[in-house]
Amino acid sequence: MPDKERLFLTINETLDAVRMAFAQYPSQFNLLAVIWPMVFGEAAYIMRDTGNRTLWAKIHSQAKLIPASEDDLKQRILDQLQRSPPDPERLARISTQVFGASATAASGSRPASSPGIWVKTDMADFVCIQCGHCCRTLNYHDGCSLADYQRWQELERTDILDWVGTVRHNGRVTACRIWIRPGTNQFAQTCPWLKRLPDRDRYACTIHDVRPALCRQYPGTRKHARMTGCGGV
Ligand code: SF4
Ligand code: SF4
Repeated sequence: MPDKERLFLTINETLDAVRMAFAQYPSQFNLLAVIWPMVFGEAAYIMRDTGNRTLWAKIHSQAKLIPASEDDLKQRILDQLQRSPPDPERLARISTQVFGASATAASGSRPASSPGIWVKTDMADFVCIQCGHCCRTLNYHDGCSLADYQRWQELERTDILDWVGTVRHNGRVTACRIWIRPGTNQFAQTCPWLKRLPDRDRYACTIHDVRPALCRQYPGTRKHARMTGCGGV
């Protein structure tokens, strides 16, 4: 299968992708109900009180039912996955549900690569129509990786680095956020690299060849495209 049709994610990348999916997708109670016992164990479940729309969660057989919002449930799942990452097989089953695409546990294609999951993306024939919706509306502020930052450093792209906010520990950059207006702590209202094409209702990325990995990987799957309003075909 050509690699365009599948995507390898390490365990940490998978957890990041689940976090991004939760942040970007609208209400997904049914999905949460399916993955809740996968994360917390077979005795755990969530339910919805149809009368007053309250959600209830049980974390294990001895625990009381507790009221929770959908955001609470998502955060509890993310915290649990972070605190106690599941083995790759279980993470693949969770990912299959979250990404709406078949995922299998395996190592990456490079020698000695770390364990993770392969996701069958079904995106080989995807065509972006340059509507600009993703760049204008999705939240990418936490989507800059250290690998992106290092690549821009190696390429001496100070024009891009000027728009990256960094967190440093002992002088080393440990996290990045994009896009911060130079000389301020304010996020740019729109991505500074997005340009509307003249005379057409189409958009282009002016740093296309070196755009962040998050942008290169969007949309990750057909479900990702559908759930986030992508107009591609
Ligand atoms: S960097 Fe490029 S691809 Fe990413 S949001 Fe901005 S314009 Fe879009
Ligand atoms: S939303 Fe989809 S079709 Fe529109 S620019 Fe982004 S990837 Fe392309």
